[in-house]
Parts: sequence; structure tokens; C-alpha cells
Amino acid sequence: MEESKIWLSSPHMGGTEQDFINEAFKENWIAPLGPNVTGFEQDLESYLSSYDSTNEVHVAALSSGTAALHLALILMDVKPGDEVLCQSMTFAASANPIRYLGATPIFIDSEKDTLNLCPVQLEIAIKDRIANGVKPKAIIAVHLYGMPYKVDEIVEISKKYDIPVIEDSAEALGSTYKGKKCGTFGKIGILSFNGNKIITTSGGGAMVAKNFDVKQKAIFLATQARDNATHYQHSEIGYNYRLSNISAGIGRGQMQVLDKHVGYRREMNLFYKELFKNIKGIKVYEEPNADYFCNNWLSIIEVNSSILGKTREDLRLFLETKNIESRPLWKPMHMQPVFEDFPFYGNGVAEEIFNKGLCLPSGSNLTDADRSRLKTSINQFLKTN
Ligand SMILES: *Cc1c(COP(=O)(O)O)cnc(C)c1O
Repeated sequence: MEESKIWLSSPHMGGTEQDFINEAFKENWIAPLGPNVTGFEQDLESYLSSYDSTNEVHVAALSSGTAALHLALILMDVKPGDEVLCQSMTFAASANPIRYLGATPIFIDSEKDTLNLCPVQLEIAIKDRIANGVKPKAIIAVHLYGMPYKVDEIVEISKKYDIPVIEDSAEALGSTYKGKKCGTFGKIGILSFNGNKIITTSGGGAMVAKNFDVKQKAIFLATQARDNATHYQHSEIGYNYRLSNISAGIGRGQMQVLDKHVGYRREMNLFYKELFKNIKGIKVYEEPNADYFCNNWLSIIEVNSSILGKTREDLRLFLETKNIESRPLWKPMHMQPVFEDFPFYGNGVAEEIFNKGLCLPSGSNLTDADRSRLKTSINQFLKTN
């Protein structure tokens, strides 16, 4: 019999999601508003501000992380022809909304510790853009695979040049930097609850704002920008970006198991560290120091083929024959056909890690049997020539 597939990351329900959905059906709250939407927003607000309750956190639940990024750029007044700085090593959803607005993405390389926005290249880019006569409107920084970016350094540059940060925390719910939750470091933060993220609402996202007015403005834009009038009156272009009460019900159930699921993903990371401990040529990515706490949404390794004698592609294809899913890292945006004509500031870090990096199965629902299969398969691969 063919063994079942081991996925990179698959939805993992906690058990109470169905109750919240049933409640919504009972009350006929199926619309994109209702008690689950408000409840889910409150759950997220208290979770994100748990380190410091004086830290203002206001969450608007939206239909996707991409929608949240789009609205964040609008709220930062990004217009056609403006420039927006963006981490190149990321998922395309980080950069696409820049183009929705007709603005120009300026891509920035990663540093080697967290694989996120390189502060040195960022500053080089800002100086150069300003020297060219255009000051960028915003910086999109990403906590890739749940690893916090170099928050202090990025905040300092943001302040120095007075350019706000949009914090793409789509992969980093549950991660912290110096004890403070990811999602709360940018002028605006965004979260995703897509199917394979750390928690899922089947599809959904959120904007994390620093004050109530910004949250209200986001909700206004997300619900077709209706003016306060009984007839339908509009003075601005709006969007249909609100989360449904059904999806929010799934989110409420998922919030109850978030920290437990982060714990399971961190155990997967330890499992890989142990497995590759004595293997020269394979490095498991880990937090640079104790300031960083990673949710390990995905565990990633770097395969150095000149030492190992095999490439990451050899490993990926071998695992595929065992019905185990693994994937290369995100292909950097400046290497993408759709973005390759836009400016890029860097020195090869993103390209290198794209060539050597591999994401391994990391789901919170992986079992001991899955781990034992992973161990056997990987050891088999390491022994073959
Ligand atoms: C998933 C993801 C998004 C987009 O979120 P959706 O909810 O899928 O629209 C944005 N940025 C990053 C880094 C992501 O991984």
C-alpha cells in the first residue's frame, strides 16, 4: 500500500471551530459581520498585546493577508508612481499590492542571520533613491517562515529617514522579538490565515493597527467605503475585503490552540536539528540569539552541495519518491519574470539561499509515525551516493 502523503504544512483544527460555526448558523449570522468577527478581532488584540497591555493593538479582520497589505499601502497614501521598498526574498503576495496601486517596488536583499530585510542594503537603497529625487513611501519587511526580522535595526532606519514600516507578519503569528509579539512592530502589521499558515480560517487575514481610527478606516474601505447615510453614498473607492462571520468562527477556535501548535512546530524544528546534528553540509536555520522566538511555521535547511556531495534538489526529489513534500524557498522577487525590471539592491544573499534552501514538513499535526518515516527516508538519502 502506498504510504499517505506527508505535507509541508496542512490545516490543523483544534476541535472547537465547529462550535463557533454552529453558533453562527443558529443565529443566522452568515454575513461578513457578526459576533465571531468581533470576537476573533478581540482574541487577536488580547493575544498580540499580551506582553505589554499599554501597547495599543487594534485588529481589523479581512478576507486575506493580501487584502490587508493592499489597504495598508492605501492608508500610507501610496499612489501611482510612488516607490515602495520591499524585501525581495518573500512570497509574491508581499509585493503584488504595490503594483495594484501602480507604484514601483524597489527590492532589497536579505541578510544571512534571519534571511530577512538586510538593514545595510536597505539604507544603501534609501540613500540612492533619495539622491535620485524620490523618497520611498513605505518599507515592507517580512518575518520569513516565522523568523523575526532584525527589528531594532529596521526600526532605527525607519525613524532616521521617516519612512513607515508595513510589517508582513503573514507567516509569524506566535513569533516574538524581545518578548513582544510579531505583528505589532510596524506602523501597520498584517496577518494571514490562509490554508497552510500557522492558523487558518480556510482563507482570511487581518490588519494590525496602532489606533482605533486606522482600524475603522480599514473596515470602512473593506466594506465598499459607504458614507454614513441611509442611502448608498460613496465619496471614496471601496473594496469588498471583510472576513465572513463563518470564517471568523474557525479563527476563534484556532486561537484556542495557537500556542500549542507553535509548540508542536518548534518540536519539529528540534527534531530536524537532532537529525542533522552530525551532518556536515546541512544547516538547520535557527534563531540568531535569545531575542528571537520563532514560531517555526516552516523549518528550513541549507544544503551545501560542495560538502555534502548532493544538492537540495537531490533531496527534494528523493523525498518526493517517498511521498514526502518539501519545497525550495520562495524565489526572490527580483528574479521573477513579472518583477525583474524593477530596481534591486543586494549582494547575492537571496540568490544563494534560494539555490541551497529547502523547506521540510513542519505541520503541527505531524505524528511520531510521520517523524519516524522522515528520519528513515532522510537517513537513507544521506547514505546513498
Ligand atoms: C501568505 C502570505 C501573504 C498573503 O496572505 P494571504 O492571506 O494568502 O493573502 C503575504 N505575505 C506572506 C509573506 C505570506 O506568506
